[in-house]
Amino acid sequence: MTRIAIAGAAGRMGKNLILACEQAKHLTLTQAVVRKGSESIGTDSGLFSGSTANGVLLSDRLDADQFDVLIDFTRPEVTAGYLDFCVTHRRSLLTGTTGLDATQLGKLREASQQIAVLHAPNTSIGVNLSLDLLRQAAKVLGDDFDIEIIEAHHRNKIDAPSGTALKMGEVIAEALDRNLDDCAVYARQGQTGARQPGTIGFQTLRAGDIVGEHTVLFAAAGERIEITHKVSDRMIFARGAIRAARWIVGQEPGYYSMHDVISGNN
Ligand code: NAD
Repeated sequence: MTRIAIAGAAGRMGKNLILACEQAKHLTLTQAVVRKGSESIGTDSGLFSGSTANGVLLSDRLDADQFDVLIDFTRPEVTAGYLDFCVTHRRSLLTGTTGLDATQLGKLREASQQIAVLHAPNTSIGVNLSLDLLRQAAKVLGDDFDIEIIEAHHRNKIDAPSGTALKMGEVIAEALDRNLDDCAVYARQGQTGARQPGTIGFQTLRAGDIVGEHTVLFAAAGERIEITHKVSDRMIFARGAIRAARWIVGQEPGYYSMHDVISGNN
């Protein structure tokens, strides 16, 4: 039985992860960790997430003896602390937290020499299939098509563009032998001039309670292709994360992605 600890248990994703653990086989939730000082500390995590009591109380302390895999859905600055904890105690880490900067991503890579690290800015199986479709589309369409990535999320999201939109940009740029840092355009306003060939544009929408929508538009003179993925229920991220947590158990130290989980790479 794989023992799971969740960091960010009181958050939107945390609650869904608690429910997903409840429904999963061969896996058990043993710790549900919240931020220090949270009013929720001491509450049964099952009841907190809207289900029945599970006996795992929300706590602000992580105990290395009680878990095999830590699933982190918090904030970038928080993830770094949990990463250090997992390295010290040789535990696997799956992080779905988005908005990590280059230094924080570098720390994940460094840690992956000692423990298994799975970085999944989007744990939806459908999104990860979409990445494969985008890779193929970019290769076939080549440089003749303009590419724009449009994403929409709820009003409380604190980073932009979304981790998924950036991942889509990276996959496309790589397929086209481009470097996303050199070709990404994140904002347009005023006298922008004509669109520069070879750029990849990002458009961000923030409104209401949109769970997550991504469209990649490939447009040329005379035709247009749009690849769209829409989420209506956060549980899909939670189920994908649980599938990934099950996969990461027993993996060698290394830096993994959802692509490895989906394609069954070891
Ligand atoms: P949220 O703000 O609802 O939840 C984050 C939680 O982390 C909050 O409850 C906060 O109090 C808690 N937290 C802060 N410091 C903590 C600490 N030291 N220890 C434990 N918990 C702490 O946000 P959310 O919508 O649940 O998203 C969390 C992260 O996951 C964001 O980065 C978001 O972009 C990302 N996300 C990823 C996916 C995916 O598929 N990978 C899907 C949805 C959201």
